[in-house]
Amino acid sequence: MKNSRREFIKVAGISALGVAAASPVLNALASGGEVAHEEKKVVVKEESSVDSPYKTNKSAIHGARWGMVINTSMIDAKKAAKITAVCHAIHNVPEIPNKKQEIKWIWPDKFEHVFPDKEDPYLAEKFKEMPVMALCNHCDNPPCVRACPTKATFKNSEGIVMMDFHRCIGCRFCMAACPYGSRSFNFSDPRKFLDPAKIDPAFPTRMKGVVEKCNLCAERLAIGKIPACVEASEGAIVFGDLADPKSEVRKLLNSNFTIRRKEALGTLPSVYYII
Ligand code: SF4
Ligand code: SF4
Repeated sequence: MKNSRREFIKVAGISALGVAAASPVLNALASGGEVAHEEKKVVVKEESSVDSPYKTNKSAIHGARWGMVINTSMIDAKKAAKITAVCHAIHNVPEIPNKKQEIKWIWPDKFEHVFPDKEDPYLAEKFKEMPVMALCNHCDNPPCVRACPTKATFKNSEGIVMMDFHRCIGCRFCMAACPYGSRSFNFSDPRKFLDPAKIDPAFPTRMKGVVEKCNLCAERLAIGKIPACVEASEGAIVFGDLADPKSEVRKLLNSNFTIRRKEALGTLPSVYYII
């Protein structure tokens, strides 16, 4: 089963990406899943003999459970827009005018929407007005993964909840299961809403009928880069290994009071907020 899936990813990835097969994206797609992670181990000996697009990138960053800490007080509307734009640009996320069909990987929202369980009529005005960045929480106990009938969404061995676009059948069970609205559905061909001159060839575009969401920049981690939103945040978003007590995220969690979204649901988000 695992072998056939590995072959599926290879074949589907090659046919979808065509000449881009040797690009870092394919490495990233291959390294994003739990199966692909096994592949990294297998491919080590291939490196010396074959120039395989699946070979392990020596610069890749690895962690046992990736997570983020978002310092909300360091993000104003301008920075929120910049963070969103950077993520959406490098992942070819289309701008769809019809809000009911919009695609979002990360976006600023109101405190009361991001934390509905913390709603309070006496909440300080500053919280009501400030933009709070929302994205996939890469939950440690992700209901979306359990809901997917084809394993198109899965949690990899580093804690990233990934999407295999080629496996998605568009049933949207994962969207119904996600309590955070972190997933978007392509009701129409997203490529129609992309400026061809701005399409980033390093990341695959999607098609009608496919669900998508933040992938924690798995394709960047695979080549040694931190997530783009973290880079664009100028210190407001910190990324790191939650399982490593010496990591920057753990230091922040040790020294700040943080909250996670809808903690009572038991999904165990990997995204923390300093309020
Ligand atoms: S936030 Fe939603 S999409 Fe992301 S892992 Fe959790 S349940 Fe799944
Ligand atoms: S981690 Fe990457 S994919 Fe996720 S919101 Fe940030 S930039 Fe976008």
